[in-house]
Amino acid sequence: MSEVKSDIEIARAANKKNIMEIGAKLNIPAEHLLPYGHDKAKISAEFIAAQREKKSGKLILVTAINPTPAGEGKTTTTVGLGDGLNRIGKKAIVCIREASLGPCFGVKGGAAGGGYSQVVPMEDMNLHFTGDFHAITSAHNLLSALIDNHIYWGNEQNIDLRRIAWRRVMDMNDRALREIVCSLGGVANGYPREAGFDITVASEVMAILCLSMDLKDLEKRLGNIIIGYRRDKTPVFARDIKADGAMTVLLKDAMQPNLVQTLENNPAFVHGGPFANIAHGCNSVVATTTALKLADYVVTEAGFGADLGAEKFFDIKCRKAGLKPDAAVIVATARAMKMNGGVKKEDLGRENIEAVRKGCANLGRHIQNVKKFGVPVVVGINHFISDTEGEIQAIKDFVATLGAEAVLCKHWAKGSAGIEDLANKVVELAESGHSQFAPLYPDEMPLFQKIETIAKDIYHAGEVIADKSVRDQLRAWEDQGYGHLPICMAKTQYSFSTDPNLRGAPEGHTVPVREVRLSAGAGFIVVVTGEIMTMPGLPKSPSSERIFLNDLGQIEGLF
Ligand code: ADP
Ligand code: MG
Repeated sequence: MSEVKSDIEIARAANKKNIMEIGAKLNIPAEHLLPYGHDKAKISAEFIAAQREKKSGKLILVTAINPTPAGEGKTTTTVGLGDGLNRIGKKAIVCIREASLGPCFGVKGGAAGGGYSQVVPMEDMNLHFTGDFHAITSAHNLLSALIDNHIYWGNEQNIDLRRIAWRRVMDMNDRALREIVCSLGGVANGYPREAGFDITVASEVMAILCLSMDLKDLEKRLGNIIIGYRRDKTPVFARDIKADGAMTVLLKDAMQPNLVQTLENNPAFVHGGPFANIAHGCNSVVATTTALKLADYVVTEAGFGADLGAEKFFDIKCRKAGLKPDAAVIVATARAMKMNGGVKKEDLGRENIEAVRKGCANLGRHIQNVKKFGVPVVVGINHFISDTEGEIQAIKDFVATLGAEAVLCKHWAKGSAGIEDLANKVVELAESGHSQFAPLYPDEMPLFQKIETIAKDIYHAGEVIADKSVRDQLRAWEDQGYGHLPICMAKTQYSFSTDPNLRGAPEGHTVPVREVRLSAGAGFIVVVTGEIMTMPGLPKSPSSERIFLNDLGQIEGLF
């Protein structure tokens, strides 16, 4: 048996083209590509603005079933499908998220795809890249510093020190900073108070950057951030302490999408990376809308399973940006089907057709859910070498009973040559004109009813329960003019329910709402239904222990 190469070995051997050549494929003039080294470039704001009136290509969403802890290969399939579409003669661009530095040194590994379907340079993408996340960190922390400074110099806005809502961020998994006391050490250091850190991808600034149409929109949304409350509970906004202008300056370059390439030298936009629980989990609106002007097909990914990722992509990103997806691919793997069918992680390597059949209930519900948004669906089976023919056939047979098709894809092992069938099927669906996309609920529906609609229609829950304080809060926001906002559910990605161990397709469960948060700048209401970690920790043996520079100066251990 030939040795299986690691993602980083494959990426290092890539035959990369100069980024100017990749830009030229999209007819982006050299003066509008702002290079970061030889293999990355940002696209100028002028060029983006000049594309606005052009016709848009087709938008394809890649989403998945409820995942195994390792991920199901959504990014890998997104990249593979982009290459596959280019292979069959379509002009296609891949749009994915940037990676967070913190998890790279913990357990997660890379975010650039895998096998022979990757975006390069993967080392850069998983580390500092073009500095976007550092800029977001700086803009976020500028606001944090301005808040404490405002209070220090007399607190003209009467911010209640006990009700400051804005925390600090950094792009590192560091549990020691989750809850801290700041301003210790005497009068010159301000007023001591409790504070804390989140990871950068959980920053509202990240979500704002990803939903803004341009720099003007970005500045307005930054100004709308609620930093805290007064004693009378009225909100204080970032604009009240004049933070929005300087924050926008720090984000000026970060707002421009990054152009890189796949292993097959096709263009990829890698831009933005909001959390998929307390935020919407998609790459930036600017990257997606720009890509649509430059290509026939844009393939993009939404985080987690379709119950969270696709729902937020449709109800938040597409609704807000006026995007109309033409088709969706649901990524399924035999091992995730087995897991949803009750098999334990350590037994996933063994054939178990019965468990695959049982786990298909999960896939079936995702297919029906995506159809509720009016978007045509195809299932992409991401092939693992341990899969058996019987398991694959079981998935195909099941999907056929729902009037859809499941296509076997071997892009991880073979690149674009392994995913031509899916590419052809996606073209057929997108060109059929069958998409009649509409969000799940209208803007004007009351907030609690929106939560119930998602829970009942998408999760098949029996009821949503919430304390009076939660309902009162939602009503208060409606009175303050926030009732039109969409809902951003924060729920476990492992189940349709709020219990991560309840696999398959549970019915009639209860969704308890613990807490609701207003992200006034990003423009959504976060509904927290479980334990949500906004500052991850590192495991006992973090992957950083295996990351180093080899004698050739190359990075080892990133995956
Ligand atoms: P997701 O986007 O769903 O989180 P990724 O595409 O990032 O998943 O893949 C997660 C990991 O699984 C990556 O390390 C990738 O290399 C690996 N992977 C993806 N598809 C396959 C496959 N078909 N066979 C083996 N490993 C795979
Ligand atoms: Mg991914």
